[in-house]
Amino acid sequence: SSADKKVDKLVKTTCSYCGVGCQLQLKVQDNQVIGVTSDKSSSNKGHLCAKGQFGWEYIHTEKRLTHPLIKKNGTLTKATWDEAFDLIQKRFCEISKHYGSEAIAGLASAKITNEENYLFQKFMRSILKTNHIDHCARLCHAASVVGLQASFGSGAMTNTINEILESDLLFVIGANPTEAHPVIGYRIKEALRKGAKLVVADPRKIELSSYADIFVRQNSGTDIALLNGIAHVIYKEGLWNKEFVANRTEEFESWAKAIEKYCPAYVAEITGIDAEEIVSMARMIGQAKKMMILYAMGITQHIHGTNGVLAIANLAMLTGNIGKRGAGVAPLRGQNNVQGACDMGALPNVYPSYQPINEENRKFFESFWGTSLPAKPGMTLNEITHAVYNGQIKALYIVGENPSLSEPNGKHVKEGFDKIDFLVVQDIFLTETAEQADVVLPAVSFAEKDGTFTNTERKIQRVHRAVSPPGEARADWEIFIELAKRFGQFWSYQSPEDIMNEINQCSPLYREATYDQIEAGTVYWNYPGTQTPILHTEKFVRGKGKFHAVEFISTAAEEPCEDYPLLLTTGRMLHQYHTGTMSRKSKLELLQPEEHILIHPNTVAAYAMENDEIVLVESRRGKIKAKIRCSDKMPEGVVFMTFHYAETPSNILTNDALDPASKTPELKSCAVNIKKIC
Ligand code: SF4
Repeated sequence: SSADKKVDKLVKTTCSYCGVGCQLQLKVQDNQVIGVTSDKSSSNKGHLCAKGQFGWEYIHTEKRLTHPLIKKNGTLTKATWDEAFDLIQKRFCEISKHYGSEAIAGLASAKITNEENYLFQKFMRSILKTNHIDHCARLCHAASVVGLQASFGSGAMTNTINEILESDLLFVIGANPTEAHPVIGYRIKEALRKGAKLVVADPRKIELSSYADIFVRQNSGTDIALLNGIAHVIYKEGLWNKEFVANRTEEFESWAKAIEKYCPAYVAEITGIDAEEIVSMARMIGQAKKMMILYAMGITQHIHGTNGVLAIANLAMLTGNIGKRGAGVAPLRGQNNVQGACDMGALPNVYPSYQPINEENRKFFESFWGTSLPAKPGMTLNEITHAVYNGQIKALYIVGENPSLSEPNGKHVKEGFDKIDFLVVQDIFLTETAEQADVVLPAVSFAEKDGTFTNTERKIQRVHRAVSPPGEARADWEIFIELAKRFGQFWSYQSPEDIMNEINQCSPLYREATYDQIEAGTVYWNYPGTQTPILHTEKFVRGKGKFHAVEFISTAAEEPCEDYPLLLTTGRMLHQYHTGTMSRKSKLELLQPEEHILIHPNTVAAYAMENDEIVLVESRRGKIKAKIRCSDKMPEGVVFMTFHYAETPSNILTNDALDPASKTPELKSCAVNIKKIC
């Protein structure tokens, strides 16, 4: 067995799954990873979840892509790198000439390194002359970036993970850390053992609910009313931090006026939570000295996602829980490098370090990169997939993402990819999206390359090459350099470190992020002149923190109705990850090999159905089959599915209605029906 094998070396690196960014040591023997361990001295204290510990076998599976593929007569056929590069160069040039560079778009990846995301956006902007660049952050925390930016001036987690242990109170709303960010889940339990209090608000009973001092189940999509209600009580009972509000914030008066109507009785009616419970929650939150609010996609994946984030920011400012240890606002980022992909400017409206696309910044990058750049900000992810469907985008370059499964209204997305003139997919596996491509480029996994990832707390960490890649697969950064050459641009980087040296010069948040510093394990990005990893200590990044009056308007774009009487919500589970491309090719698959649609037993009984019965789940956009799992963790009338399984693609059902401010789709709520299969 692998346990008996002698280990040649241990290679320190960063987990390739979630945004917690645990430090791993890959056990390597004969150029093969044979196991994973972790070190007690790491910031994750040697803790790993099942994904980090057992999810690594995908690295060496037979299913890895080992050479480029080109579609010929409808079939993907083995090709050389030269043939693939030539074709990409030829087709991008033709399309750009014929339709303009506005007809080309690119999707970067929250899985590749910072250096690779930087090069990809540089390639798209400076060579293909398009700002249509986005990535899957749009599906998760774009609402956090927009909301926290408006409130505080920065869209990132304000404090660090291990400060959870210094909190008096942890308020978890719309997040399920023990499944989606497990080592943060461990930290929360550790804090509770040290005496911290826990408040959980979630429509579903999550694992942390049973540890909570107060657990409430708000009706789906009513978070804004709940947060306003809590703030209302804290304000009325004088539990707010008057000094902080007076000295550090603005727009408080108009916010206070707007909060007037959110009395416990009114909020109880909307949320379905008892009025007294709302008062108890508010008192516990208002009395805590150091409170950290942890949230995730339960807040953001709604048509009012940005307003939900603003309501969280209001509560944090009202109680003075910003800019100090053990407090703050923690948007829990999903993928290993989603924070870094945003930081690197893999977004349509900003250059690296969130420098907006305006004339001044464009001039800087034109001179820095030595070429002209497009002036107009580009389209977001869902706008791009719609533009593909409508024929406005003719060529798309996708790196390390699987939008055919991960995007809402999946049928529409898939049809678009079938119709598009030219699709390039660069990945480590032949994903569902890669199968639709005209050219597939084989990339390498995290174990086969060097670089850096930035985790959810803004810590920049090294990725170290442990083994050589399979076949002809190449690192994404090497592919971008080769491709640039085909367009006459000779980039001289010899290594990811060379790329980081360039990032240091044009991306102020990464000015200090040299490989020496990163290797020492001490680099959290922060704004120049700050000595601590905590954001907003003396003043907010925007100067004063800004209160925003946000109203509860509706629960969702699509509410249950006669034809579709159930509410479908989607999310994650512990032993699988995203569209399953990695986790399903490891031992994790044995633990959770298939999808279940979770339904309350009373709802199952009302439909005269049974546990384990395979049923048809239908929405206005499509239908799929799924196996029922009775679960009293679900509220009645609400059903839950993940998006981990290609056999049961739940995103065929989900709604692509967007939050207008962030363009994040409403993956947390759509109306469905279930039917017996005769
Ligand atoms: Fe990897 Fe996240 Fe698990 Fe840590 S918590 S081991 S980063 S999946």
